[in-house]
Amino acid sequence: MMRIAHTTNELRNLIRGFRFTHPPDQTVGFVPTMGFLHEGHLSLIRLAREENQYVVVSIFVNPTQFGPGEDFAQYPRDESRDVALCSQAGVNVVFLPSISDMYPDHPMVTVMVQEITGVLCGEFRPGHFDGVATVVTKLFNMVQPDFAYFGQKDAQQALVIDRMTRELGWPLQIRVCPTVREPDGLAMSSRNVRLTPAGRQVAPLIYRGLTEARRLVEAGETRVYRLVAAAREIISADPGMTIQYLECRDREFLASLTVLDRPAVLAIAAYVDSVRLIDNVFLEPVTRSLDDRMEG
Ligand code: AMP
Repeated sequence: MMRIAHTTNELRNLIRGFRFTHPPDQTVGFVPTMGFLHEGHLSLIRLAREENQYVVVSIFVNPTQFGPGEDFAQYPRDESRDVALCSQAGVNVVFLPSISDMYPDHPMVTVMVQEITGVLCGEFRPGHFDGVATVVTKLFNMVQPDFAYFGQKDAQQALVIDRMTRELGWPLQIRVCPTVREPDGLAMSSRNVRLTPAGRQVAPLIYRGLTEARRLVEAGETRVYRLVAAAREIISADPGMTIQYLECRDREFLASLTVLDRPAVLAIAAYVDSVRLIDNVFLEPVTRSLDDRMEG
C-alpha cells in the first residue's frame, strides 16, 4: 500500500522502517518532481520501480527556483490526481512537503554549483539552479536514496545535479532518462496545459528544428553555426514563437562549440503564448576513420 508523507518526520520514519526491515542490498529509488504528473514523470517512476525495491516520489513546487515575475503562482497543480497516478504506478511513498517543512523562516544556506549554471537557462534565470541544487540537496538528505531519476528534457539540471552529487561524494547514482514526447514531437511538460490551442499547434516546431540539426549532423555537417541556423530557421518560422536561446554546447562543461568535435547538446528555451518551453537533443560527433582524416 502506498504511503503519503506530509512532513519530513513522517518521511524519515517510513524510510527508516524500510531500511530496518529489508536487507542492505535492497535499494531506494527517488524521483523528485514538481507534480502535475505526465508520461515523462511516469517513465522515471517506472524505471525507478524496475531498479529498486522501494520508490519515493516527491511533489513540491519549489519557490526558490522561480525568479520574480516567473510562473510560480500559475504553475499547474493537481495533488489528488498525482497521488492516484503514483499509487497506480506502484510508488511506495509520496512525499508532499509544505514550504515551511523545506525552508526555515530565515534561510541562510544555499547550495551553488559554479560554471555550468551560468549559461543556457542559468543565464536567463539567475538563481534558478541555486534553488534547484539547494532543494535537491535537502531532498537527498531526507530520502537518502541509492538512485535518483531525472529527465534529459532538463539536461542542464541533470548535469548540475550529477556534478553536485559526484563532487560532494554522495553515495547515490543519478540516472538520466530520455525525453518523453507527444506524438507530434513536443516534449511533455506540466506547462503544456497553459498553451492556447493556437500555441499548441506552434510548439512542435521546437523539436522539428532540433531534429533537422540532428539530421544535418548525420549527413556530415560539423559546423555548429550551420546546425544552429538550420534549427533556428524552422523554429522561428511562426511569429508565435520567440526563441530565448538556441545553443550548441559540449555535454561535460557546457562550453560553447564551433565545431561538433565532442558529445554535444543542442538546447533551446522559447516562449509560446508567454509559456516558457525548453527542449534539447544530444548531438554526437561523427567519428571519421583514420583514412578519411588523412585525406583531409
Ligand atoms: P518537473 O516536475 O518538471 O520538475 O520534472 C520532474 C522530473 O521529470 C525532472 O527530472 C524532469 O527532467 C523530468 N521530466 C519532465 N518532463 C519530462 C519528459 N517529457 N520526459 C522525461 N522526463 C521529464
